[in-house]
Amino acid sequence: MSKKTILIAGLGLIGGSLARAIKAGHPEYHVTAYNRSQAPRDFAMQAKLVDEVSDDFEQLAVSADVIILNFPVQLSIKFLETLANLPLKPDVLISDSGSTKQDIINSAERLFSGQTVRFVGGHPMAGSHKTGVIASDALLFENAYYILTPSSLSKPEDLAELKLILSETHAKFIDLSAAEHDAMTAVTSHFPHVVAAALVNNADDFSDKMPFTKNLAAGGFRDMTRIAESSPDMWAEILMSNPDNVVDQIDQFTDKLQAVKALIQDQQSDAVWQFFDQARKLRSQMPIHKGAMDNFYDLFISIPDKSDAIHDVLGYFSCHHLSIVNIKINETRVELNGVLQITFKTKHDLETAERLIKANTDYDVYQ
Ligand code: NAD
Repeated sequence: MSKKTILIAGLGLIGGSLARAIKAGHPEYHVTAYNRSQAPRDFAMQAKLVDEVSDDFEQLAVSADVIILNFPVQLSIKFLETLANLPLKPDVLISDSGSTKQDIINSAERLFSGQTVRFVGGHPMAGSHKTGVIASDALLFENAYYILTPSSLSKPEDLAELKLILSETHAKFIDLSAAEHDAMTAVTSHFPHVVAAALVNNADDFSDKMPFTKNLAAGGFRDMTRIAESSPDMWAEILMSNPDNVVDQIDQFTDKLQAVKALIQDQQSDAVWQFFDQARKLRSQMPIHKGAMDNFYDLFISIPDKSDAIHDVLGYFSCHHLSIVNIKINETRVELNGVLQITFKTKHDLETAERLIKANTDYDVYQ
């Protein structure tokens, strides 16, 4: 029997990571990849992520048993339109990895209505600060939620088949309708990106009046706005393909701000206290999950502004072979402490690092 052929279309961060996991876990599959530019194709072949690469999407698509589209959502819909005009294998299973699901499910159902083509939407809810196949990682999705959204073109056994193909991602698979997915991710991801960007833009506007303001942006402001550094291409696209849910969130949030504004104006300190206390309790009970854009483990170390301080800290970690994926200095001002943000790949390394810093230095350290 010939091998089942899996086509990974789009060799970016997500496509590359899926290819790595599928290839590592399933030697019985023939894994092919489409990418328009050559460098990622060459990289994927050299790193043995896939068995075959091409810039000819149509030629790869017609011989595929499974096709996973890894493009921005509107582009994935364009590729679906191309697929609808090709002589595909009759029961080909198509999926995607886009961050919103209703648009693509609607398109698939419209384009393949009455055909035997199967379509299951997918959203692996993990990522990294980086893009492109070079940053891909077979374990990018480990322990992250991987949402699968059925359609009128799929049966439960199609979702089971996809989970088997993706099993080496070690993700936690959840089945949700596209409507549920888009409503929930609007609350936990899409709307928070709007707020983060608005906070940064607001601080910038205010700094016109008082330019020193930006220098005071530390602690809470940093934590609230980290995601404002995300790709504008990706986030504009995501909001445009989930507008109703995001607008609902903006309306509800505006009401909440107006309510607390009224409490403050009326000097209702007990009610304001309740507002914060409720949020504090609720947040401590939430299963805050390492998800999209945050699959790493950050340690913050307050270090003195001395030339050898960073060198010493990194020395402790290198002796214990801890896996560092990113290093950032959040604030460095002469004669004040700077905050060194070190990102580890695993929780174990993060905890070991914290113990090492506490044992060897008197620096403040927190996760
Ligand atoms: P990426 O920028 O790393 O890769 C994008 C891919 O699209 C590349 O292969 C690129 O060559 C291809 N591409 C872009 N424009 C093209 C065009 N006009 N023609 C042909 N190919 C084109 O992006 P990514 O992070 O891998 O994102 C892919 C999908 O996964 C997006 O829908 C994104 O919303 C979703 N997603 C991203 C993350 C994340 O954190 N990065 C997490 C979950 C889901």
